[in-house]
Amino acid sequence: MKEHSENYIEKIVREELNRFMERDSSICRCDNCLQDIITLTLNNLPPMYVASDVGHIMTMFHLTRDQLRAQVMVELVKAIDQVKKNPRH
Ligand SMILES: [Zn+2]
Repeated sequence: MKEHSENYIEKIVREELNRFMERDSSICRCDNCLQDIITLTLNNLPPMYVASDVGHIMTMFHLTRDQLRAQVMVELVKAIDQVKKNPRH
């Protein structure tokens, strides 16, 4: 069975965002902000992360799931920062 990468990556983004929110109470919890953070993060990830299947990405770039998650976290930090500075709510 083949995992759909977009859902897989988005799942990681949501999981990591939840962890960030537990630690940082200054992140706005409204739907607009949360959706913006997720969308920004997905948009800023290298296109290959969302374009092809995750198994293929990991094989091609010798990535582990942890490295993939680390890359998500890097972009998530930037997206959170951006939304904090310029919230749409
Ligand atoms: Zn908000």
